[in-house]
Amino acid sequence: MTEPVSQKKNLPRVKNRLYQTSTMAALLDAVYDGDMTLDSLLEHGDFGLGTFNALDGEMIVAEGVVKQFRAEGVASSASGDLKTPFASVTFFEPEITVTLDKPCNKEAFEAKVNELLANPNLFGAIRFTGEFETVDTRTVFCQCKPYPHMLDVVAKQPTFTMNNISGTMLGFRTPSYMQGINVAGYHLHVLSDDGKHGGHVTDYIVKKGKLEIARISDLEIALPRTKEFAEADLSPENLSESIRTAEGG
Ligand SMILES: [Zn+2]
Repeated sequence: MTEPVSQKKNLPRVKNRLYQTSTMAALLDAVYDGDMTLDSLLEHGDFGLGTFNALDGEMIVAEGVVKQFRAEGVASSASGDLKTPFASVTFFEPEITVTLDKPCNKEAFEAKVNELLANPNLFGAIRFTGEFETVDTRTVFCQCKPYPHMLDVVAKQPTFTMNNISGTMLGFRTPSYMQGINVAGYHLHVLSDDGKHGGHVTDYIVKKGKLEIARISDLEIALPRTKEFAEADLSPENLSESIRTAEGG
């Protein structure tokens, strides 16, 4: 075993710095096992998203608690010794807070956030807390070795629609030039207020609630020192299209 990437303890809590493990291109190329534990990840942020080793569900990190959505979209608390092959976290400190008081679909929501973030070349951290008319989610399910390519996994992904729920939707907007490092555009996960359901968001209509955002200009990426990462093809020709298929709504 290689040493975990981070063994540092008691790190300063730097606000709105994005910390990420591995890259989206590696996940796409079936590098589904990382060397970072959730306990280590939480030293770098209390807000964010990702997935688990063996692609065992979608992850949301909300207020320092990691929840795991398995195939059936049901949330459970994840133990700190579980590992992640890909995650993005920050210590979120909202810079702008606005109230949304009328229904807003995904396109209008993203346009609103783009307008508030103003700068398309920085990352944005986004949190919406409130009521949803509808939210479509998907989750991935645990894979066995030899791992299939992610596009084969998502072709069989279970999807869910939740209507009239209250919850928290959070995640990041990544600048387009970072495609492959992360997911260009919006990547949001949702957790219902009862703490029971959620996953990777593919579409939604928000009804009303609080939108909080922050610009992120500081980032740190921990690349895995694993054999699988060393052997991965991280610059395939169809990278952008594949990521849109795998992660898009
Ligand atoms: Zn996701």
